[in-house]
Amino acid sequence: MYQDPTTTIEHLYSGTHVHKTELVNLLRCEDPYIVELLRRRADSLRRESYGTEVYIRGLIEFTNYCKNNCYYCGIRRDNGNALRYRLTTEDIMSCCHEGYRLGFRTFVLQGGEDGFFNREKICDIVSSIKQKYPDCAVTLSVGEWSKEDYQAFYDAGADRYLLRHETACSEHYSKLHPEGMSLDTRKECLFNLKDIGFQVGSGFMVGSPFQTLDNLAEDILFLGQLNPHMIGIGPFITHKDTPFGDRESGSLELTLKLISILRLRHPKALIPATTALGTIHPNGRELGLKYGANVIMPNLSPASVREKYTLYNNKLSTGEEAAEGLDKLKEAVIKAGYSIVVDVGHAKM
Ligand code: SAH
Repeated sequence: MYQDPTTTIEHLYSGTHVHKTELVNLLRCEDPYIVELLRRRADSLRRESYGTEVYIRGLIEFTNYCKNNCYYCGIRRDNGNALRYRLTTEDIMSCCHEGYRLGFRTFVLQGGEDGFFNREKICDIVSSIKQKYPDCAVTLSVGEWSKEDYQAFYDAGADRYLLRHETACSEHYSKLHPEGMSLDTRKECLFNLKDIGFQVGSGFMVGSPFQTLDNLAEDILFLGQLNPHMIGIGPFITHKDTPFGDRESGSLELTLKLISILRLRHPKALIPATTALGTIHPNGRELGLKYGANVIMPNLSPASVREKYTLYNNKLSTGEEAAEGLDKLKEAVIKAGYSIVVDVGHAKM
């Protein structure tokens, strides 16, 4: 069945059911007129729910030790060239102190899956932050845990959890991850997190090795089932010290189109213009906002460790990407037609 992409966009805009083949056609379409129509529709829906507001999150990358060996990721266990580090609770608290002063009201703790930070340690960090900054949200992004662990994080005060599904196709999942990791486990974690009451974020990389447009359409449909509060997507970017070291990075254009499609399907979701998007193009982040994103996550990690959290090569960590470059970022966002606000920035859903 062929559906004209303009009709698909109107269906997405009005919330009418859209078939997988229509999504594939739209993803394939590079006609600038159609892409601009898609962008304008997405931007108008984001403005209906969120006006021109952009929420910021302070990203604290607190450990790059990881027991996993994801083929795409620069901090994978077998990358002997990674310089490993862990932040102490004091380090993390001083990141929050600086972040609060700068106007951040959400702190995102992200890390590799590091056994040193067990359930108890993570709960301690979360409750310390919540105690000192009760008006702030704490987001965790620390991978796969049991439902009991997730419940403990929630009880300690964590508000949100980011766990990308990476790809909604099991076969593709097994090409991106070693044996022992599975899409079923990932999905179970996501539904457990939702069940507990977290605001849940999921998402995927665009242009990851072996990915097809059909896979991307599956990703869109899966996110429809999960109905997350937050959707994070960014281009896959090559890291030389991984098994995908000779693969090409994902494209700006396809990532932007996907942001718009996801905005149309999730008018009230929080969608970041990700660091990866800012890394593949100097205006990537601003373009992300124009295509429907409404969140930016500058780096609040101590400057001394930033270069070590290299998920992929050339990852931005200074200038407007750094929390202390916030004034410049604010200017760039205003220039794009939006404005950064001091707000906890919960999803309006
Ligand atoms: N260990 C945690 C968080 C760290 S990785 C977790 O797995 O959830 C955070 C995200 O970075 C991953 O979900 C992945 O989508 C993205 N990422 C990892 N390697 C990447 C690469 N080479 N290019 C682009 N994004 C990457």
